Amino acid sequence: MATETERGAVATYIPPLARIDPKQFGLCVVTADGEIHSAGEAEEAFSIQSVSKVFALTQALGKIGDTLWRRVGREPSGTPFNSIVQLEREQGIPRNPFINAGALVVADVNLAGHAPRVAIGELLRFVRYLAEDETILIDEHVARSEQETGFRNVALANYMRAFANLTHPPELTLGVYFHQCAIAMSCRQLAMAGRYLMLGGLLEPGGARVISAQRARRINALMLTCGHYDASGDFAFRVGLPGKSGVGGGILAIAPGKASIAAWSPGLNENGNSKLGTLALERIAEATGWSVFSPA
Ligand code: GLU
Repeated sequence: MATETERGAVATYIPPLARIDPKQFGLCVVTADGEIHSAGEAEEAFSIQSVSKVFALTQALGKIGDTLWRRVGREPSGTPFNSIVQLEREQGIPRNPFINAGALVVADVNLAGHAPRVAIGELLRFVRYLAEDETILIDEHVARSEQETGFRNVALANYMRAFANLTHPPELTLGVYFHQCAIAMSCRQLAMAGRYLMLGGLLEPGGARVISAQRARRINALMLTCGHYDASGDFAFRVGLPGKSGVGGGILAIAPGKASIAAWSPGLNENGNSKLGTLALERIAEATGWSVFSPA
């Protein structure tokens, strides 16, 4: 077990994450006019884990549009990220795309018509395009560890398959999901990749359209309400910005029209969200006045 420090405890469910030094911290802010401000270990690649759910969701919506919402809900779950309890009552329809069950449905959508390798390649290409960085990679070691230990995810996938809410053999959908969690990115790459959510769907100011403005708004809404597991309300209260966290200690936060921000520190709080990362975002929001709840 990793020891709990004042920076929180690193995730220990897989060895490659358990070995990460909790003392690291990185931050990158990309503003709407393209300025990049970095601090700490902003160039250090880390396992983005559940932050990948934002990009996978964007990809799935691009494929099947709003019909996705027949298979996954849009409500905060109020339960931990890997919870199975609501699935029985709700007939195999996950509460939202950012809990694991919902992300598995999204991975299943992205898998349609492809071999798993092609589906994950497509997501990786999309993330590279968003970040304008071809060096982003999947950490195969992390992916393998996820595969070896992801028994709860296997259970979730099989359970939803029983309700016919997964359309592929669970092991194929799980393969896509485990690999997307293993994408490694630095704070700078992540903040760059999040620009389309700050810019109403544009890759860069005046640049190519990635998604519609409405879709960007809606993804931001889901990040605000569901992006921090069962602590999403607390993150909205403290930071006031849409954000998505991962158990690798990364957080992507969006100040619409103002900035795309990535914070990383591997120590997690009791809800599995980066302890220092959340604190840093709270301070930035305070110092800048950026909040979706403030007058512009
Ligand atoms: N790979 C992790 C899992 O599926 C991701 C968890 C997370 O970042 O929320 O359990």
